[in-house]
Amino acid sequence: MSLILVVEDDEKNLKLVRHLLQFKGYRTLEAMTAGAGIELAKAHHPDLILMDIQLPDMDGITALKQLRAAPETKDIRVMAVSASVMPEDRSRILAAGFDGFQGKPIKLNEFLEAVAAMLVKSEGH
Ligand SMILES: [Mg+2]
Repeated sequence: MSLILVVEDDEKNLKLVRHLLQFKGYRTLEAMTAGAGIELAKAHHPDLILMDIQLPDMDGITALKQLRAAPETKDIRVMAVSASVMPEDRSRILAAGFDGFQGKPIKLNEFLEAVAAMLVKSEGH
């Protein structure tokens, strides 16, 4: 079953996402800082990364750039999960090179469908 890395500094959001993903049978890895997330991604090469944008050590866009710059993580699909849902924020996030975007608070069905779609797309790697 697919392995998903969740990078999220809010404990309640992290718990919700973990439960949702595990309920669907996915395996999860978790980090509460971008730095820890990048290290886990390099070590475990997850099938998908869900990246919060506002994180304590660096923002999710900077973290994405670091993932894309490293040969062992550059091909991993990364979906932004952000409370910034204004159209201009969403465009800025997608323009940074994320493979997808989900707003917070999470809409359960939409979120799980987006995750499943990302995993189908990443099967070709
Ligand atoms: Mg956050």
